[in-house]
Amino acid sequence: MPAASSLSFVEATLNFAHPDSETRLLDETDRSKSVRRFDPKTVRIHDARPVERSFSIDSNGFTLVKHRTAVKNFSDAGEVARVYVPEVERLIKDLTGAHTVLQFGPALREPIGRIHWAGTETAAVWSGYMDGALSSGERAAAEVLAAG
Ligand SMILES: Cc1cc2nc3c(=O)[nH]c(=O)nc-3n(C[C@H](O)[C@H](O)[C@H](O)COP(=O)(O)OP(=O)(O)OC[C@H]3O[C@@H](n4cnc5c(N)ncnc54)[C@H](O)[C@@H]3O)c2cc1C
Repeated sequence: MPAASSLSFVEATLNFAHPDSETRLLDETDRSKSVRRFDPKTVRIHDARPVERSFSIDSNGFTLVKHRTAVKNFSDAGEVARVYVPEVERLIKDLTGAHTVLQFGPALREPIGRIHWAGTETAAVWSGYMDGALSSGERAAAEVLAAG
């Protein structure tokens, strides 16, 4: 694989979270809660296209592949579940030869009979955080009410 120094690059200024920023998160659902103070740094961004075939899951733990999705709106959870999840399952099967691909997120939220699951681990966004805990509680409560 060619050394990074032989790859073409552009230099750009990226806004990193400032170590003293009171908020250091990126909140996609509410940008006003995101990082308040930035620390701009000029960095080199290399063009990895000439070496994209050099990376493999076996050797590097990751690989770069092209995938054109049919999803029109990534904010539509229904469309993501219908279109994106099967696309990604197919892609992973093709890449790895796996017979079965389990995407565990929705499976964790799937009610079993009258049992509905809440808890931060079941959240689609901010899983592992308080925000995920709260939204999962609201979702589970809505499911219970809808189930009657
Ligand atoms: C040290 C630490 C720091 C953290 N800091 C942050 C932070 O800064 N910001 C942030 O957003 N998140 C933070 N988190 C994560 C956040 O606290 C959790 O994501 C959130 O509390 C999870 O809420 P929950 O309701 O899903 O689960 P929990 O809060 O774990 O609630 C589950 C409840 O179920 C009870 N329970 C378990 N089994 C049974 C049973 N069989 N019967 C009855 N009750 C049962 C438990 O006692 C518990 O009260 C932190 C977590 C830790 C551990």
